[in-house]
Amino acid sequence: MSTSQASPTYLNFIGGKWIPSHTGEIDASLNPARKHEVVGYVQQSSLEDLNQAVQAAADAQKAWRQLAGSVRGDYLYKAASLLEQRLDEVATAMTKEMGKTFTEAKGETARGAAILRYYAGEGMRPVGDVIPSTDSEALMFTTRVPLGVVGIITPWNFPVAIPLWKMAPALVYGNTVVIKPASETGVTCSLLMECFEEAGLPPGVVNMVTGSGSVIGRGIAEHSGIQGISFTGSNSVGKSIGQAALARGAKYQLEMGGKNPVIVAEDANLELAVEATVSGGLRSTGQKCTATSRVIVHEEIYEQFKRLLLNRIKEIRVGDGMLDGVWMGPCANERQHRTVLAYIRKGIEEGAKLLCGGGQTQADDFAGGYFIEPTVFENVTANMTIAREEIFGPVLALMKVESIEEALQLANDAEFGLSASIFTSNIGSMLQFIQEMDAGLVRINAESAGVELQAPFGGMKQSSSHSREQGRAAIEFFTAVKTVFVKS
Ligand code: NAP
Ligand code: MG
Repeated sequence: MSTSQASPTYLNFIGGKWIPSHTGEIDASLNPARKHEVVGYVQQSSLEDLNQAVQAAADAQKAWRQLAGSVRGDYLYKAASLLEQRLDEVATAMTKEMGKTFTEAKGETARGAAILRYYAGEGMRPVGDVIPSTDSEALMFTTRVPLGVVGIITPWNFPVAIPLWKMAPALVYGNTVVIKPASETGVTCSLLMECFEEAGLPPGVVNMVTGSGSVIGRGIAEHSGIQGISFTGSNSVGKSIGQAALARGAKYQLEMGGKNPVIVAEDANLELAVEATVSGGLRSTGQKCTATSRVIVHEEIYEQFKRLLLNRIKEIRVGDGMLDGVWMGPCANERQHRTVLAYIRKGIEEGAKLLCGGGQTQADDFAGGYFIEPTVFENVTANMTIAREEIFGPVLALMKVESIEEALQLANDAEFGLSASIFTSNIGSMLQFIQEMDAGLVRINAESAGVELQAPFGGMKQSSSHSREQGRAAIEFFTAVKTVFVKS
């Protein structure tokens, strides 16, 4: 980091060194709560920089993969402690770069440390099976080997957790890494790199190149020196990355969008359901891939649920996430703000009824940021755009149903299948939901947006490349299985 300007300038991290881009260009990372505030500058890199990073990662590969897993794990334990020591600093950068509240940012940073520790432990856990051979004199078993150099492309909505839940398993299983963070959150990622540097990772084991998705992201997808690509982000970009990776035979993993439903049955605990709908749908300004978007409510309790929901939403304080008492921050950037407002207009045009919100927050305090009021629509039908496309903003669509069967049918009427939740006290409805809901994550009497780092995470249908990450599932992507047959 250089502090010659008013806001710090961060460099690329390549081969253990902080290096400016060959382009000589930098890009400002802006605060969405205060449009004119520059949080920091990051490098606007070129393919030359990416090539250098891939070379550094390739050079570091052999020595890194030859270390014992426990030794690789020790580096992650160190990085976890360093991240924890810098928790407030990292969380501040996160809130300022992408707008989530400081409380949420601190929670995410603490989770980042937990992710590092979880995977540090993986360095000592089994990696294969012994399989009885038909030859009684032979020993047959599986082991796992790293892919080599792994490219990681991440979004801005979880700028600590997502990079770490990809980097930590990549590293502990013996891969070396080149990461390109979202342009929105290059400063936060630079702080993660500082933790890895301070933890003493050998040069080249982790490298970061910032820059545009169309140059550096695309470059990673197409780079012949990268053997695996792990991506989280939008569907359109994910698919293009998958195609580029497939074309050159590289392994890839895509985690993409969602259009997550909550079903509120007639026998639900309504207070719990309201709280979870508000938290799942509006926390982080609705910018979670697992955010609740469609709220499918049984007609018998519909009016009561609606009243409780609207009353609860009135209590939400919107503002700069660094301020005490603020519960919901701004949209992460200008484009996101514009997109969400366009979806709200579309909802109105297509005949949905606006119950609250619907616009840019009016108060003077908000003039300088990309704020949007918490917004609720009703009379939403399955064919409306706001019921089909991912909005990624603080917008809930209420839909009324007559039965659990109709609710499930509606819930499954989506291209996406990431997460889903149901509120019910009926065990039969719970079991039916577990069986029939097409989603990678199904949650009962809990919000759609809860993810635990030790459990597999990923979507069905258009939400993912049908792979899973996190927990022990991560080993499937970041290693290749080798079947070994030994005879004396
Ligand atoms: P995005 O536009 O797809 O960007 C994601 C990453 O891809 C960024 O680093 C971006 O770089 C890069 N990128 C952009 N264009 C690229 C290209 N042509 N080739 C290669 N890389 C490219 O998504 P976003 O707007 O940051 O994030 C929001 C989306 O992420 C939502 O759709 C959300 O559902 C999804 N998401 C999914 C999950 C999940 O686990 N399923 C989790 C979080 C978010 P730049 O920033 O430089 O453009
Ligand atoms: Mg920003």
